[in-house]
Amino acid sequence: MAQRTFSIIKPDAVRKGFTGAILAEIEKAGFQILAIKRLSISKEQAKGFYAVHSARPFFDPLTTFMSSGPIVLMVLEKDNAIADLRKLMGATNPANADEGTIRKKFAGSIQENAIHGSDAEDTAAFEIGYWFAGYELV
Ligand code: GDP
Repeated sequence: MAQRTFSIIKPDAVRKGFTGAILAEIEKAGFQILAIKRLSISKEQAKGFYAVHSARPFFDPLTTFMSSGPIVLMVLEKDNAIADLRKLMGATNPANADEGTIRKKFAGSIQENAIHGSDAEDTAAFEIGYWFAGYELV
């Protein structure tokens, strides 16, 4: 059954000119891009998005990084979208990412790792609602 997930092309990848190449990988893997927008977000907006990580030692550098330049936010749809996007992204640390994954190809470090993808149905619902209004998803 078609499932939705939420993804971000992070500031490092946008800065390096990888937006188009990453979108091509996503479409080639069978995802429909249901909604997409390019935004520069504030540190406060980044903190709200990553609230689940607020106790982690990397929370401050992560939210500074995510607000350091434009990002591309997307809602993606396909069967098994959440797990399939995580597989396409590869491991959080690109040094551990499998060949052929987006992070292996485009990420520079464990923090500047090119792409975000929701990790479960409840987080996907929160993340889509955080960045997109219902009328943007019809
Ligand atoms: P993901 O689901 O693979 O994106 O990884 P997590 O949910 O564990 O972490 C969220 C994001 O925080 C990652 O994508 C990285 O950008 C960043 N991050 C995770 N672990 C670390 C770390 O150990 N150090 C730093 N600096 N950033 C990290």
